[in-house]
Amino acid sequence: MTNPDPAAESPDRPRPDCPDCGEPLTFVETVVSSGAFRTQAVNMPQIPIHYYDCEGCGTCWKLGTRLLPDPVRQIARDSRA
Ligand SMILES: [Zn+2]
Repeated sequence: MTNPDPAAESPDRPRPDCPDCGEPLTFVETVVSSGAFRTQAVNMPQIPIHYYDCEGCGTCWKLGTRLLPDPVRQIARDSRA
């Protein structure tokens, strides 16, 4: 018997904690990477990248195969604010 929780993300998308300060990250969006820089990319699986913001230290993170800081989005976020 399942108990659907509208607040819950999909089970394969756990909400990670910030590696820097340990605060739970806020999910922003998911972007599927095309990775189409080479012709080989057509045969490669597309990896969805989940983007998170940390409300603790203000760092943006991206989670693909592993959690990495995203300096590009960090710059965009700083200039927007
Ligand atoms: Zn943080």
